[in-house]
Amino acid sequence: AGFTVAIVGRPNVGKSTFFNRLLEERKAIVDDVSGVTRDRQYGVAEWNGKSFNVIDTGGFVPESEEAFEKEINKQVMIAVEEANAMLFMVDAATGITDLDESMADVLRRAAKPVFLVVNKVDNHERLLEATEFYGLGFDNIFFLSSMSGSGTGELLDAVAALI
Ligand code: GDP
Ligand code: MG
Repeated sequence: AGFTVAIVGRPNVGKSTFFNRLLEERKAIVDDVSGVTRDRQYGVAEWNGKSFNVIDTGGFVPESEEAFEKEINKQVMIAVEEANAMLFMVDAATGITDLDESMADVLRRAAKPVFLVVNKVDNHERLLEATEFYGLGFDNIFFLSSMSGSGTGELLDAVAALI
């Protein structure tokens, strides 16, 4: 029960770094559901006096390229079903990739709010380069650094405003 947010995105964009920051700073509890799933992590976060469930997806990375894309899309589908809103994370250090584009296609069709989260915006130069992500076509776009925490507050304000 409660409001649930899923963090989706291809591997290495920083989903788990953001997830851990969210839980650590708000002193939240990570549910141990290891018997149920190994490819997702569940936690509870708190922001602006509101608490919500957070799902970190994509811990499992298959070996072949084909299985990989299939698995990623499956993860997104499951997240869309389970969550009330999606944080679609991309990586400003690498720019837009084919996998980002194919995930964007799936998420654009979701009848739920999607926040495009451009991570690894560690400095001003990265912020300038990161404008290319407007091209993915999402209205809700946030630029942040999960590593330093800069910009994360604005995103969480927007998430908490939905609850
Ligand atoms: P995941 O596969 O999407 O869960 O990504 P991880 O959270 O495991 O992070 C992948 C790599 O990106 C790790 O080496 C992180 O330290 C790094 N990383 C995460 N967030 C940031 C960030 O804001 N800036 C930079 N420069 N690196 C980051
Ligand atoms: Mg991860």
